[in-house]
Amino acid sequence: MKAVLHIDLDEDSLDITIREYLLNKLKKQDKNQQSLYSCAKCNKKIAKVVADFCLNNNDRFKGKIYCRDCQGEF
Ligand SMILES: [Zn+2]
Repeated sequence: MKAVLHIDLDEDSLDITIREYLLNKLKKQDKNQQSLYSCAKCNKKIAKVVADFCLNNNDRFKGKIYCRDCQGEF
C-alpha cells in the first residue's frame, strides 16, 4: 500500500512510460483481486490492496474493510 500511495502523490513527476506501466500493473491487480473483498458499508467489490490498507489501519476503520469512497468518511 505504501508504494501505491507514493505513486499517487508523485504521479505528475513520473516518466510517462513508467507511469503507464504502473497504472496497467495496478489495473491488472484490481482485475485479479477485486472480487475477494467487499465494502462493509456499500458492499462494493474492492481490491486486495484497498482491503489491506483498511486492515493496516484497524484503529481508523474498526477492523472493517471499506472501499476508497467510504474510507473518506473516516
Ligand atoms: Zn463503500
